Amino acid sequence: MNRKCIFCEIIKGNQKADFVYEDEDVLVIRDVFPQAPIHLLVIPKEHIPSASQVNDPYIWAKLMNNATIVARDLGLDKDGYRLVVNCGSMACQTVPHLHIHLLAGRQFHWPPG
Ligand code: AMP
Repeated sequence: MNRKCIFCEIIKGNQKADFVYEDEDVLVIRDVFPQAPIHLLVIPKEHIPSASQVNDPYIWAKLMNNATIVARDLGLDKDGYRLVVNCGSMACQTVPHLHIHLLAGRQFHWPPG
């Protein structure tokens, strides 16, 4: 846990969030500044600053598995959805606690810009 990390504060229950799913390793919440009609964040409970600092492949397995299960449970797999991981400043990562964005409910484009 990192005291100054907003996601750690949410995980500890010190900061409110709109919870969608939780288990012993992972939390899924709604993004406060949604970039699509559905914008969820899939967050490991362990404080890992970014994708480049993941040492245990189990973390990715848990996060990706939960992201796709939540997407299926919400019926998002019908029309499709996007999973995004921003890593570092050039990719516009703003919260230094690993998370996967799960975006759905509108048409996305490629390349993303
Ligand atoms: P990133 O820019 O990839 O690090 O994504 C961080 C995301 O966290 C952004 O989409 C923010 O809108 C979102 N965010 C920041 N603070 C909160 C919060 N307290 N609750 C929910 N989402 C948040």
